[in-house]
Amino acid sequence: MKGRDRLIVALDVDTLDRAKKLIDVLSPEADIFKVGIAPFTDFGNDIMKELENRGKKIFLDLKFHDIPNTVKNAACAAAKKGVFMMNFHCLGGKKMLEAAVSGCGEARSAAGKRPLLLGVTVLTSMGESDLDEVGVAGPVNKRVTALAALARASGLDGVVASAKEARLIKEKEGKDFVVVTPGVRPQWAEEGDQKRVLTPRQAISEGADYIVVGRPIIEAEDPLLAAKKIIEEIESVIQ
Ligand code: C5P
Repeated sequence: MKGRDRLIVALDVDTLDRAKKLIDVLSPEADIFKVGIAPFTDFGNDIMKELENRGKKIFLDLKFHDIPNTVKNAACAAAKKGVFMMNFHCLGGKKMLEAAVSGCGEARSAAGKRPLLLGVTVLTSMGESDLDEVGVAGPVNKRVTALAALARASGLDGVVASAKEARLIKEKEGKDFVVVTPGVRPQWAEEGDQKRVLTPRQAISEGADYIVVGRPIIEAEDPLLAAKKIIEEIESVIQ
């Protein structure tokens, strides 16, 4: 995979117009765009169509977490749209994750290729005290590796996790188990609300297959230049 195949731009914007402009501006460098819950709720179908028309790949980041039958139907619906990757909270449990896999299987014939199915382990905005607050005990990396193992045992292709846990996940679950990492901050960007951050270079070195970058690109004065710099940074590690 080339550098640009490993960068996912988070389209975290508040209007369809801004999203379209960003896709146009970033088009020469970026091929994968992440549509999260805010833009999806506001203008989901329109943005998905725009991306499809421009031949871009979609990471549908809706982090499904519901009863198994509902998640199965949601996964089936997303797979029919031909998304490239989508995700599910591992805390939904094995039955829910297996239902997601089976929902995609049913949709496969219609959409052709099955999307990459990812588990969300622990949000990169959460540290140990945040976990404690919601009654989940123990060090973050222990929770992450346990949830990654659950994702693999349930038939998912990989997980979304901090780059800080990527190496450990690859060691335990194998090199083909996909790791997608948000919480990536180039040295020249602000951390914002992310807690367990690493630079693009560090994230790829730690074993991340894909990195998700939002604000450092979409809020940059020159988003295309920011994307270019990040891709160069990725390539400096993979070459
Ligand atoms: O702007 P920033 O680079 O922090 O954006 C990261 C993106 O990745 C956001 O859209 C956020 O919702 C998403 N994400 C995350 N942590 C996860 C899963 C997704 O930050 N565990």
